[in-house]
Amino acid sequence: MADIQNLEQRFESITVQDENQDSNAPYQHKPKGSLSQAISLSNLGTAAAQSRMKLPLQKLPANAAGKPTQTTLSTTITKITLPSQAAQRPSAESRPSDPDPLSQPTDNPKPKPKNWHLGMFEIGKPLGKGKFGRVYLARERSTGFVCALKVLHKSEIQQGKVEKQVRREIEIQSNLAHTNILRLYGHFHDTKRIFLIIEFARQGELYKHLRKAGRFPEWQAAQYIAQMASALKYMHKKHVMHRDIKPENILVGLHGEIKISDFGWSVHAPNNRRNTMCGTLDYLPPEMIKPGREENWYSEKVDLWSLGVLTYEFLVGEAPFEDTPVMTQRRIARGEMTIPPFVSAEARDLIKRLLVLDPDKRLSLEEVEVHPWIIKHCVKGERHYQRTSGGEGKKEKVVQ
Ligand code: AMP
Repeated sequence: MADIQNLEQRFESITVQDENQDSNAPYQHKPKGSLSQAISLSNLGTAAAQSRMKLPLQKLPANAAGKPTQTTLSTTITKITLPSQAAQRPSAESRPSDPDPLSQPTDNPKPKPKNWHLGMFEIGKPLGKGKFGRVYLARERSTGFVCALKVLHKSEIQQGKVEKQVRREIEIQSNLAHTNILRLYGHFHDTKRIFLIIEFARQGELYKHLRKAGRFPEWQAAQYIAQMASALKYMHKKHVMHRDIKPENILVGLHGEIKISDFGWSVHAPNNRRNTMCGTLDYLPPEMIKPGREENWYSEKVDLWSLGVLTYEFLVGEAPFEDTPVMTQRRIARGEMTIPPFVSAEARDLIKRLLVLDPDKRLSLEEVEVHPWIIKHCVKGERHYQRTSGGEGKKEKVVQ
């Protein structure tokens, strides 16, 4: 894993499309504070957070004179108070363009790294707030490229001792390029903040769609699960496991396609670490909740268990082991769940083959992709959004 300085040096170009043309503001670089100044290297090896945490909200600071700066964007992007544009401006001291250690030849070569800075973006409406900061709609000035900008406060990252998690998220996500995985195009930082340039998922959180719908019709659930399987297969080929698959960590793109996000808990496999209580209890596989057992070491198969829980939740509207925390753990450890009768026989079969206590006996992703339930609902090459017109968010009329 690269050290924090490597991360500072790694920038990626974004592929641009010419929507919402805008003036090309002549910003230059501000001297950048070092990320390593704010994130103590001595903490990095020990800072694995034991639980998901929410960091306190912080407003973006005003500019050097104490005045907030505003920027006007087109109708699709609302006006908000901006962090200092002045503070992003001139300085001859741009970031040193040291060689990027992560841009070594790979199977998927990247475009030349670019020196991003805040002045290159117009900032739009807030899209949401997460455990590490806020996310804003943004547009790259020179190209009009619409993206999301995640703002992380270094002090909060330090306080929360989640440096490792953030580094992991940046490292892993920026090396993944798949339709159903939220792209991380690049990142930059100033003295106080880290900015992640990420793909804008226009339809927002899948969790909200699910809560609104109650549960998804089988065809829609199957198509989501097929997309999940495709993304996980891609990740696992790269020896990355997500470990925190759940509806809250899935976003939805313009065409209704799903985008896996939140790689804060993902790790490179094989991983011989013992039980770390990360992720939401409902989605934890049995091998992650039984502490102190030799066979408790886990692999990519954790994501297959979570895929089973996800399939269940999509179809039923709640997770299969939902209960008090103690009971949830007990039920997961025993694989105790009931599938309601309105779930089809094929879907039931898939769930049962994924929610298997022994990780080695769980279905593989290849087997998920050709499972009769998936085949039945996913015509090859057809994406779910081609079938959603008028149907998204509606409750299914259940046919037994
Ligand atoms: P996070 O910090 O990644 O958990 O993001 C917080 C919230 O911001 C999410 O729950 C979404 O509602 C929203 N959000 C984050 N990233 C994006 C994105 N790329 N596109 C659209 N909305 C996003």
